[in-house]
Parts: sequence; structure tokens; C-alpha cells
Amino acid sequence: MAKTIAVLTSGGDAPGMNAAVRAVARAALSKGIKVYGVRRGYNGLLNGDVFEMNLRSVSDILSKGGTVLYTARSPEFNTKEGVKKAADNCRKLGIDGVVVIGGDGSFRGARDLTGEGIPCIGVPGTIDNDISSSDYTIGFDTAMNTAMEMIDKIRDTAQSHDRCSVVEVMGRRCGDIALEVGIAIGASAILVPEVPYDLKKDVIDVLLKNRETGKKHFIIVVAEGIGGIDGIVKEIEAQTGIETRGTVLGHVQRGGSPTLRDRVVASRMGYRAVELLEEGQSNRVVVMKDNHIVDYDISEALAMKKQFNIKLFNIAHEISI
Ligand code: ADP
Repeated sequence: MAKTIAVLTSGGDAPGMNAAVRAVARAALSKGIKVYGVRRGYNGLLNGDVFEMNLRSVSDILSKGGTVLYTARSPEFNTKEGVKKAADNCRKLGIDGVVVIGGDGSFRGARDLTGEGIPCIGVPGTIDNDISSSDYTIGFDTAMNTAMEMIDKIRDTAQSHDRCSVVEVMGRRCGDIALEVGIAIGASAILVPEVPYDLKKDVIDVLLKNRETGKKHFIIVVAEGIGGIDGIVKEIEAQTGIETRGTVLGHVQRGGSPTLRDRVVASRMGYRAVELLEEGQSNRVVVMKDNHIVDYDISEALAMKKQFNIKLFNIAHEISI
């Protein structure tokens, strides 16, 4: 049973991480567990950049984007010596449990730190929804809503000029943002890394067919993992004669106040992470499965393969005519 725990955010930031930090701190304090906030991910464990949290340390952060604990990628922690040093620093501070909010990379770190004797629990925080063990990751809903709002604005100008707009959204390995946002904004085509595509058949022919039935402006949503949109923009314009513009939404999708869904999921996951440490468990990751909060062994979770929702992808294309 953990008596003193620490919480950190690691890897890419995501809206809702603050709600998770708040839930961890408040759950710990309500259970009589001492809790430290660690700044800048694993770097804070290496440098001793930690502070003891009280009930008011996490006031007014629920609605804030980013992470008040800051985040970082730590090359030093990604070494055997680094993990040992972090574990020794934890022991010096009496930390006997760590909640790591981040992505798969951060969970590998959590597994290594557990291996050095410091029980860790992972909480999935990343906008891409690219954690194979979880149906949902903290930040995904906010990022999608931001992308949707931005593309609604792009549509206004595409419509005024009878243009085609190709919009790149985030998702290097995972097309979930592109898929759901594409449906929400009525994309003529959606390109994701999980499904091979033929630009002529899957995009250009679709635009030409849509134009025959009177459609005059078009939005194509492309996941970052496709490898850039410049070539796609040029090819569409060359082959259809439709004026085509490209927009890369980029980091705007990472920021902003978290949606209700992200705040609630983050609060539930953060709370469960503390419960697990209180129960004396370690090397677990808290995930969402069929709308329930469950937990898996980190190694098992890392070995899982993410299933892309091909059924939804096919529906999206069928109703984009
Ligand atoms: P994310 O958690 O968003 O996937 P990264 O993959 O960048 O982000 O991982 C965040 C940090 O986790 C890395 O900078 C490193 O310190 C730590 N980490 C990643 N992989 C490992 C590993 N195999 N062993 C130890 N630490 C790791």
C-alpha cells in the first residue's frame, strides 16, 4: 500500500491532463496519502524537481489546457542509469508509487521504473487516441472538437470560392482524429495511415462525381501519418481543375480548454490510478474499454494492437456522395 505517491505528465501534452493531475492529487489526499507533483515528466524525478501538493495545489486547473506540471521528453531517463537514478531519488523522497500520465513511450518508462522497485501506474493522455490498450485517450475529444471548429471555418471560405480544401489533422500512426472529424464536417474523402489509398480512385474520381451532381466545394481530411498534403493538393488541382488549397492545422489541436468528456474521463482515470496504488498494485495502465474504466498489466497493454474502425470508415465514404 502506497503512503507517498508522485504524479507526472510526460511526452506530448494533451487537454485534460490537468483534470487527471487534480483527480490524482485530491484522491490521494482524501485517502490520507502524501502526494508530490513532479515537473517536466521524468526529468523532474531525475533533478528532484518535485513539490508536495495540498488540496489547493490543484485549484482552478480543471478548465486549463496543457499541463500545469509541464511535460518533457527525457533522453536521460531513457537509459538504464537514468531509470536507476530516478528510482533512487524516489526512495530518498519516500515515494512508493508514481502515476504517469502520457503515451506508450511514457508507459515503457513506467514499466522500467517499476522494474527498479518503484510501483507505477499509467494513465493514457494523448490527443491522437493512439494507445492500443484503450478505446479512449485523454485529450482526443478536445482535439477533435478543435479540428472540427477550424474546418467549419475553412469550409466557409472554400464554399465562397468554389474551392477544394485539403486539411491535415494530427495522427501520425492513428487516423482516429481524421475519421471522426471527417464525418463531423462532411468530408468528401478521408485519408488515414491504416487504410492504403489510391488518389485517383478514392479522391479525384469522387470529387468529379460529386461535381456532376452539383457539388461545388469540397473538403478532404488527411491524417498527418499520410506523409504531407502538398502533393495531394497539386494533384487534385491538376487533375480536376478545381482550385485547391492545403491547410495543416498543427498544434492548435493540442491546446484549449478540455471538453466535458475529457475532464470526466481524466477524473475517473486519475482516481482509479490512486486506488490501484492504494491496493498495492503496480505496473498497471488504466484504460477505457467499452465505456468502463479497467486496468491492464503495462507489458500486456503495450503488446496489444489497435483496431481501426473500418466499418465507420466505410460508412463515412458511403455518405460522402
Ligand atoms: P509518449 O509518452 O507521448 O508516447 P514519448 O514516446 O516521447 O512520448 O515518451 C516520453 C518519455 O518516456 C521519453 O522521453 C522517455 O524519457 C520515456 N521513455 C520512452 N520510452 C522509454 C523506454 N523504453 N524506457 C524508458 N523510458 C522511456
